Amino acid sequence: MVKEKVSVKKESFKLSKKIVIIAVLILVVGISATYMKFRLHALPDIDGIECNQMEQAVFHIHAHLDVYVDGQHRTVPEFIGIIPNTCFYWLHTHDPTGIIHIEAPQYKTFTLGQFLDVWSKSFENSGIPTGTPKSYVNGKEFTGDFREIQLNAHDEIVLVYGLPPDSIPISFDFPQNL
Ligand SMILES: [Zn+2]
Ligand SMILES: [Zn+2]
Repeated sequence: MVKEKVSVKKESFKLSKKIVIIAVLILVVGISATYMKFRLHALPDIDGIECNQMEQAVFHIHAHLDVYVDGQHRTVPEFIGIIPNTCFYWLHTHDPTGIIHIEAPQYKTFTLGQFLDVWSKSFENSGIPTGTPKSYVNGKEFTGDFREIQLNAHDEIVLVYGLPPDSIPISFDFPQNL
């Protein structure tokens, strides 16, 4: 009988040790979640575009941008709006093809101006040409402020600074999964 009592005590000691370990684990997870949240807000929004830790999937479309300076094609760099180990702005690029990824937690209209602002703030030396370009959407000249061009699914947007190229692209051949 006495032996049994001792083993019961041992069992409950083991149990409380387990509870302490679980409590510590919960605390650690809680603290790191708070830290992540803090980091999430460490980067300010750009024109209302948030930088989230995860890529957003509710609203996910793609547009394409071509930039020409005096007839020469300029590369739109990869990783615009992607801050390493930190966050993804809702407007970003994954590669240097000129494809703009619009990945937001809700359906919303975004503009080229917002993308250009994310671009200029994602890089020390963004390489965005200065001045007012001529602009085209799907081959048609856009007569308003080029910054107001809306980013719609599969739009082909062209900015022409200075002398024009030989021809203005009217569409882009998007990969099938985009
Ligand atoms: Zn993405
Ligand atoms: Zn995408």
